[in-house]
Amino acid sequence: MSYESKMFEQFAMPTRKQVEQSLLRALLSHGGVIKEFGAGQEIVDEIANDFGLNEHQRSAFLQTVYRKENRVKKSLLWHRLLFRAADSLAKEKLVSRPTKTLQLTKKKEWMLTEKGFDETLKLSNIPTARKSFLPTKSYEVQKIVKKLIESPRPENYNPFDKGKKVIKATRESAIRTRGFRQAVIEAYSCKCAICEMKINSPDSLSWEVEAAHIVPHSSLGRDDIWNGLALCHLHHWAFDVGWFTLRDDYTINVSSKVHSLPSDFGRLGDYEFIRALSSKSSRIFLPGRSELHPHHNAIRWHRQNIFHQGDIQ
Ligand SMILES: [Zn+2]
Repeated sequence: MSYESKMFEQFAMPTRKQVEQSLLRALLSHGGVIKEFGAGQEIVDEIANDFGLNEHQRSAFLQTVYRKENRVKKSLLWHRLLFRAADSLAKEKLVSRPTKTLQLTKKKEWMLTEKGFDETLKLSNIPTARKSFLPTKSYEVQKIVKKLIESPRPENYNPFDKGKKVIKATRESAIRTRGFRQAVIEAYSCKCAICEMKINSPDSLSWEVEAAHIVPHSSLGRDDIWNGLALCHLHHWAFDVGWFTLRDDYTINVSSKVHSLPSDFGRLGDYEFIRALSSKSSRIFLPGRSELHPHHNAIRWHRQNIFHQGDIQ
């Protein structure tokens, strides 16, 4: 038995397998990423708490002799165990290593892969059907997000993807859709562009806000950030059915049919959600970087094809 294994046994540390599972669960509750382990990192204590480790277990250290430099290196036993577990997950391709994630997000983090995400859902008894609605990052999805937010904004954007297959949902297109959803929701700081409502589920796993397509999926709208808007469920519906659209200066244009709406329609208690749209004269809430704003070609299409002008122009 190695010196390291003896130490793990002597201090009655959890097994590597147990730590691997705890790491996967921690990754899920942290949106798919956790920082590289170092002293003072909250995650190091969080997982230690998961196992109820005592002070001795947390502060025990290993002494390794560096023959070349002729010096003794001390490292915390618990950090060592965490690293061993994460390293094993990386070997199984369930997480990406901090050195690899760094190239993608500029942060030294362990990140779930799609395979790791599936494994974690199984471990946490969460149905795979919920996968598309979880804001959990995965290495493959982040690659798409990076591409979406870093591509140069085209002058004359074509929001249609002629090659898009509406019916055939491949694994690749599912990842692409999740990338689109994540990029849009993050660009709008998880808020509805119209009412700025921000709320997540009690388990913090799902956001209420949705990534809406301006040119819809069914009309072969592209999964690009320039064809997207973050909207709450109500405003998403109202936008899709043409109750309102956007002008080129990103102010709201409400259908003139609002004037003939029965008084008990579109009310949430005292809040009249359709009429409230007409009183909003300022620009909608948009991402800080103007390159990420919806493209005029997409909103023009929405004005011409979806928006209900009504009888009075
Ligand atoms: Zn809203």
